[in-house]
Amino acid sequence: MTEDVRAEIGVIGGSGFYSFLDEVTELRVRTPYGEPSDSLFVGELAGRRVAFLPRHGRTHHLPPHRINYRANLWALRSLGVRQVLAPCAVGGLQAKYGPGTLVVPDQVVDRTKSRTQTFYDGEPLPDGQRPGVVHVGFADPYCEHGREAALTAARGSDWEPVDGGTLVVVEGPRFSTRAESQWHASQGWAVVGMTGHPEAVLARELALCYTSMALVTDLDAGAESGEGVSHAEVLRVFQENVGRLRSVLFDAVGRLPVERACACQDALDGLELGIELP
Ligand SMILES: [Zn+2]
Repeated sequence: MTEDVRAEIGVIGGSGFYSFLDEVTELRVRTPYGEPSDSLFVGELAGRRVAFLPRHGRTHHLPPHRINYRANLWALRSLGVRQVLAPCAVGGLQAKYGPGTLVVPDQVVDRTKSRTQTFYDGEPLPDGQRPGVVHVGFADPYCEHGREAALTAARGSDWEPVDGGTLVVVEGPRFSTRAESQWHASQGWAVVGMTGHPEAVLARELALCYTSMALVTDLDAGAESGEGVSHAEVLRVFQENVGRLRSVLFDAVGRLPVERACACQDALDGLELGIELP
């Protein structure tokens, strides 16, 4: 591992996002929580140092419930990352949010079941540090400045984004039943995905800025009248849109503040962490 490779911005997403950057350094990063999904790929973009991490591994072998979210966020922070952009594929819960819609959510609902969603779980780290009992504020799960950067970038590319809305995260890997989906839709929630949580809260627990950029690849079972979602359809729509998602993402990188002035960085103020963050 190259010790002096640093990054300030992290992008958690597929390999399609960094594969054509000019110079990319591949780093394997170890964490007290085990292995991240893959190597981190660090390069320069819009004058910023960016670390890319393929969420599902570069061969897309990790299902959403098996991703080591803690290792992923910890690894990014250990390189110096303080702001994270998190593109993801989602289903639309409202007919008006059809395939190709870009949603920059402002709320999340957690309907996952089996995922470790805290760094502060009382278990000592391998080096003996013991995390304290820590309750972070999560009323506004996403970074206000990161959201603004993503929205501005999308508008600049003539891709009118949905500003706000609730992302409900389900356990998966199966898609929702029609009843589940209709229930989610009836709450007024906008989109449904499988990876947005605990990614968002773990970022908050490390005082990172975190911004979700949710690309709708299909209408969820409760919002359409056909057979429901198929994985092949999700992949097809994602491939169709990955190019413009990448250009919006890259533009958003350049729009992230150089000096953070948001509340995210203060998320841990006054709390007894018991562990030293990287
Ligand atoms: Zn922030």
